[in-house]
Amino acid sequence: MSDVVRLRGVGKQYESAGPPALADVGLTVASGEALAVMGPSGSGKSTLLNLIAGLDRPTSGEVEVAGTVLNRLSEKALARFRRASIGIVFQFFHLLEDLTARDNVLVPAQLVGGNRRAAQARADELLDSLGLTARADAYPSRLSGGERQRVAVARALINQPSLLLADEPTGAVDAAAGEQIMRILQDLSRSGQTILLVTHDPDLARQCATRTAEVRDGRLTEQVPA
Ligand code: ADP
Repeated sequence: MSDVVRLRGVGKQYESAGPPALADVGLTVASGEALAVMGPSGSGKSTLLNLIAGLDRPTSGEVEVAGTVLNRLSEKALARFRRASIGIVFQFFHLLEDLTARDNVLVPAQLVGGNRRAAQARADELLDSLGLTARADAYPSRLSGGERQRVAVARALINQPSLLLADEPTGAVDAAAGEQIMRILQDLSRSGQTILLVTHDPDLARQCATRTAEVRDGRLTEQVPA
């Protein structure tokens, strides 16, 4: 099985003084795995996710995703790589308010280019599989939190990313919607999607992840299943 994520000696120091946000993190995520990264607030989870997403750069070490070493890419190449290979679901959805649900899902496909009709068909397919067909023409302001997050999941999947990242995906929705998002992630994992999930919800980790790791004070430790 090939590795989708490989981190070697990764560190991140935001300020010149003080402890680093991340120190000497080594991590691999194989294709088809779903890794849940847990740990207390401020431990470095979001920093780790941002480095893997190519949204930020490490101050030391190497970040490799889907065979590409992100450190070596220019900003432009990094943005291109991110759009094509990584899907991200954020805690607070980050939908564009003046676009319908369907058009939100289509944004990453339009940025990558390619066949418009194929993208539209895939968007409709994703919306359908996530139970959103009836909401496809609605604007985010008319959607519930759970619906918004499902649109965000569809948007993250539109370019068939090598890696799906999720940062507290159930953190801003009610319990019932959280259950639904949890099941969607579970199904995606079962269908072979490689996932890295940041959460402090042990239930979500247990249900969706094939492996768990913990970050504490910027250091990552694997949790060996009992
Ligand atoms: P978590 O996601 O586990 O809550 P973070 O990765 O957000 O933790 O934060 C880890 C540490 O890095 C914290 O001490 C936080 O204050 C610091 N940090 C995070 N982002 C920044 C930033 N942009 N600038 C300076 N410090 C930051």
